[in-house]
Amino acid sequence: PSPDLFATLFPFHLVIDRALHIVQVGPVLHRLYPCMSEHQDLHEHFRIKTSESALDFDSLRSANAVCVIILRHNGLKLKGQMQYVINDDVILFMGSPVIKNIANLSKYGLKVTDFLNHDPTTDLLFLLETQKTALIEAKSQAHKLAVAQAQTNEALAQEQVLNKLKTRFIHTASHEFRTPLGIISSSAGLLEDYGDRLKPEKKNKHFRQIQASVQHMTTLLEDILLIEQSDAGRLECQKAQLDLIEFCHELVDDIVTSDRSERQLDFQISALGKSLSSEANYPVDIDRKLVRQILFNLLSNALKYSAPESTVSFDVEIDPANILFRVTDRGIGILPEDRVKLFESFHRGHNVNNIQGTGLGLSIVKRCVDLHGGTIDLISEVNVGSTFTVNLPIAELDSSSTTASPANIVGLSAESSEEFILN
Ligand code: ADP
Repeated sequence: PSPDLFATLFPFHLVIDRALHIVQVGPVLHRLYPCMSEHQDLHEHFRIKTSESALDFDSLRSANAVCVIILRHNGLKLKGQMQYVINDDVILFMGSPVIKNIANLSKYGLKVTDFLNHDPTTDLLFLLETQKTALIEAKSQAHKLAVAQAQTNEALAQEQVLNKLKTRFIHTASHEFRTPLGIISSSAGLLEDYGDRLKPEKKNKHFRQIQASVQHMTTLLEDILLIEQSDAGRLECQKAQLDLIEFCHELVDDIVTSDRSERQLDFQISALGKSLSSEANYPVDIDRKLVRQILFNLLSNALKYSAPESTVSFDVEIDPANILFRVTDRGIGILPEDRVKLFESFHRGHNVNNIQGTGLGLSIVKRCVDLHGGTIDLISEVNVGSTFTVNLPIAELDSSSTTASPANIVGLSAESSEEFILN
């Protein structure tokens, strides 16, 4: 072929003479590295990798096989073949750049059009590029799938939890409603059939039983509604000023009247280590409804899970930033395996035997404590007793408001403990 045609056909070729000088450079190679002029030493510009150990003219000439030459200038590899041309006593190197990533073309100053149409390098480059794009796409799809799967799993897990809760609710509600409904039915039946013949006290007993059963079912429904309200984010902490001493005394009175056993409730309230009498007052900012739920549930549990003759202690300790409520019983205690699930709705301890309950009380307590920004701790030993401690933060009230600071408390007494016989 004419020199021009030869140059077009082999854009990366080199011709080397016996002195290992470059005598001809392919046009693309020349464009890339114009500084590499003819008659310069081959080894000055290239590192040569062949199966031959020596790199002189004769060794290269006899190599006649595939070899790689690397441009010292920038590391571009050219893979090709050394061909000895007898007539001119020169070696002709015909090669092509080794590029594995289309993005590397620009790094070496190359263009796709620098390669001949029949050069498999461009096909390979496009194939690799397509493969790379396909791989990126596949990875992105796999990631999207994994995310979707995780979301489905989460939704499924939530669904399962809800289903479990629903089943437990139906089980508990039907179980808890059956007894009071039975009592209502039999008492109402007796009153209907023998009302005119029953003595007044017998009649009253049946009316009271009906009222107590209705009250029991109402409480259960209220508890469920409260949990539902809390789950829906509709239960709020609405703090307002109230007298903590009066509030606690009222609560203790309510518990005493609602419990019909012989158990004793030992109630003490103190501020900064000094006992407060029932006549004192101590205004604090708390949510009455939430704190009542917390204390009512803890106290009624303490009584419910204790022997009829035992004593439950209820201590309230106030400091300017915090109120501590401690309820201690000497009852059945809580098994270690039940503690993890203690605050879950409908969870009941394995040692409750035939003590009635729904498993909602502590779940409500926990939600109310959380809403109030407080903490709850438990120490318990089976057959020895349990102590629940609730800490609620309180904002210090404005000193201009009535008797806010402990120093102003009316009726601060050195020792004032009150014991209630529950009967
Ligand atoms: P329940 O209606 O069953 O009393 P709670 O949610 O109030 O439901 O309490 C959950 C479980 O925690 C109870 O079933 C019981 O096993 C255990 N528990 C709560 N308080 C006490 C306590 N003071 N002593 C022993 N066990 C308790």
